[in-house]
Amino acid sequence: MKRILVNGGGGFIGGHLIKRLKAEGNWVRGVDLKRHDFAAPPADEFIVADLRDQNVARAAVQGIDEIYQLAADMGGAGYLFTGAHDAAVLHNSATINLNTLEFGHQAGVKKFFYSSSACMYPEYNQTDPDNPKCSEDSAYPAAPDSEYGWEKLFSERLYLAYARNYGTQVRIARFHNIFGPEGTWTGGKEKAPAAMCRKVAEAPDGASIEVWGDGLQTRSFLYIDECVEGVRRLMESDFTGPVNIGSEEMVTINRLAEMAMDIAGKKLTLRHIEGPLGVRGRNSDNRLIQSRLGWAPHYPLRAGLERTYAWIAAQVAHSATLA
Ligand code: NAD
Repeated sequence: MKRILVNGGGGFIGGHLIKRLKAEGNWVRGVDLKRHDFAAPPADEFIVADLRDQNVARAAVQGIDEIYQLAADMGGAGYLFTGAHDAAVLHNSATINLNTLEFGHQAGVKKFFYSSSACMYPEYNQTDPDNPKCSEDSAYPAAPDSEYGWEKLFSERLYLAYARNYGTQVRIARFHNIFGPEGTWTGGKEKAPAAMCRKVAEAPDGASIEVWGDGLQTRSFLYIDECVEGVRRLMESDFTGPVNIGSEEMVTINRLAEMAMDIAGKKLTLRHIEGPLGVRGRNSDNRLIQSRLGWAPHYPLRAGLERTYAWIAAQVAHSATLA
């Protein structure tokens, strides 16, 4: 049995990861600014505190064998690509990583997992929606399209520098659009799959729903269970990364919306409006993960979206009864 710290344990991926780590028989401490919004992850200990605070970060790592560092100032395009939160995103997430790594290192933590993002890939390789390039070796010359991506790149370098200089064991994944039940679905920090499911669930048959931009921008979306599986496999492997953890099933945002409508059995029209967009095209490239871990995600988008839609439709129905 290992003693494991999950930073960001009150968040979407952290909550699912705690369940998995507990099911594997570990002792788990979660730390987050808040308790989980939709579930009660079965952590042995859960600390509600701010990891920007050095005293909190120092206390959190005591007696810990391994850290999964998922805490970040984070949201979807509506949060990250307007520019309004740039200073906070850079400052908050970098501070969490600086604190976690330094105090973890001082306390003798054996291994760190760091959740980077596909948002660190250069914008110039993601202008063609049909042919984006996101192989791990395409990261440099660096040119992420958001400060969120720059912070991820900086923190990747921070973890790698600790590995080089101090022999710290680190594992770094670049997540590509993770989605599923028990994630943010409203309020401005939600990402495209959850936003689309919510809009479809709220719309009466025959109505229209808003899509930002022309909807021809492309992305791939990875279901949460496969994200957690990839994280665990990477952590148990001898491969440091960075490595993509994402799906290679690329779709347009219009197609994502149509899929959600089809799952709901609703006939709606799409109304394209201006909105924050991010890069024109993005897809995971799974050659490296396949070759280093002998495994890559394969779960179909449709199957994950069916589960997510069912959960979000239930949230929408529940909040309607409260209104
Ligand atoms: P999330 O927002 O649900 O979880 C992040 C958690 O960090 C939140 O619960 C938040 O309260 C917590 N947090 C933020 N600041 C904190 C602080 N100062 N002290 C303590 N806790 C703090 O996001 P998520 O989707 O679960 O993402 C987890 C990690 O994966 C993040 O680092 C994110 O950048 C990365 N990531 C996620 C995706 C995705 O599609 N979800 C894609 C790429 C990378």
